[in-house]
Amino acid sequence: MRDSVKLSSGRSYLAIPGPSIMPDEVLQAMHRASPNIYAGELVDMTNTLPPDLRKVARTEHHVAIYIANGHGAWEAALSNTLKEGDKVLVPASGRFAYGWSEMAEALGLNIEVMDFGLQAPFDLARVADRLASDRGHEIKAVLGVHTDTSTSIRNDISGLRGAIDHSNHPALLMADCIASLGCDRFEMDAWGVDVMVTGSQKGLMVPAGMSFVFFNDKAAEARAALPRVSRYWDWTPRANPEYFYQFFGGTAPTHHLYGLRAALDILHAEGIEQVWTRHEMLARAIWAACECWSEGGALAMNVTDPALRSHAVTALRLPSPRATDLRMWLEENLGLTLGIGLGMAPPDSSEWHGFFRLGHMGHVNGHMIMGLLGGIETGLKALDIPHGTGALDAATRVLSGNHSG
Ligand SMILES: *Cc1c(COP(=O)(O)O)cnc(C)c1O
Repeated sequence: MRDSVKLSSGRSYLAIPGPSIMPDEVLQAMHRASPNIYAGELVDMTNTLPPDLRKVARTEHHVAIYIANGHGAWEAALSNTLKEGDKVLVPASGRFAYGWSEMAEALGLNIEVMDFGLQAPFDLARVADRLASDRGHEIKAVLGVHTDTSTSIRNDISGLRGAIDHSNHPALLMADCIASLGCDRFEMDAWGVDVMVTGSQKGLMVPAGMSFVFFNDKAAEARAALPRVSRYWDWTPRANPEYFYQFFGGTAPTHHLYGLRAALDILHAEGIEQVWTRHEMLARAIWAACECWSEGGALAMNVTDPALRSHAVTALRLPSPRATDLRMWLEENLGLTLGIGLGMAPPDSSEWHGFFRLGHMGHVNGHMIMGLLGGIETGLKALDIPHGTGALDAATRVLSGNHSG
């Protein structure tokens, strides 16, 4: 009976760590004819975006808007601050640190990666030592990925600032908040971040295709000292909304702008602190369930210390090929799509089928997370994957706040 019945019709659930689920308000805001890009409503609306973006990033400084994905923001941040031959230090807790460093290398920068493995955050003492030994101040920037989406490690960006200051090092601090902005607490100015990059399609709940580079005056000085910056990536005109047409270096990404306006309205109506708390609660429910399942001996969370876990993505291990089996089963039978493992094993290896990830970023709430967890438990049962009991109970205890019930 079960084999012949598919239960995947109905609204599907994309629980991958980006792109994330888009609110109906965002989709509706984008469903319209193209506006006049030279004057009128679009121009006025666009001028409202930078102040609201700054509030999400907790900064008083500048924001440049790009028509690009996160990789574009990576390139923009580096291109506006560094020149060929400059050295960057890249502490790594996963694949995305390598991605950013490869971008730096392709731009002719001299990269030094400090690898802390796939299950540990930056060792800040070692980073501080490395900076202290750089007496000639050869290192011009430290690139820190806040949440590495591949491992779900969340790094201490404020601590990274401390490591730089400890040795009075002048290097710029650049943070990749593509997987954390609008999910995990991030305080650009209070944490002393000079440059921050993010994308539209994760915590900001807008389709992929728009990205943002936030920068302070120290970073702007680095830009001013460069002999040239490629015209398209130069952040100066893009951070100046008065020159709307120049701002986007061509036609504005009209529909993304409408979508972003709607998403920022949703974020501000909830309040950014509350947005962080919601993500934390939902993450705790997921971890509580995963802890129960892992008692069966098969499933394991990649990050053991809860204090080091992202609130937006959870990376999991399940012996190959069960992780892939589970993903396929859930998509086919329940309409639930989980994320693939990334950077944990080579994509053409058999171990690759031993990892998966849950995205819980942006437009997610309690009943969705209970649906996600209920779906996973169903798949574990259907595939006879050993798992401990009481996972859903444990999650409901977190979400209800009733730890005895
Ligand atoms: C998704 C992601 C990126 C890459 O963003 P794209 O939009 O896919 O280019 C970079 N860094 C982190 C931490 C990410 O999560």
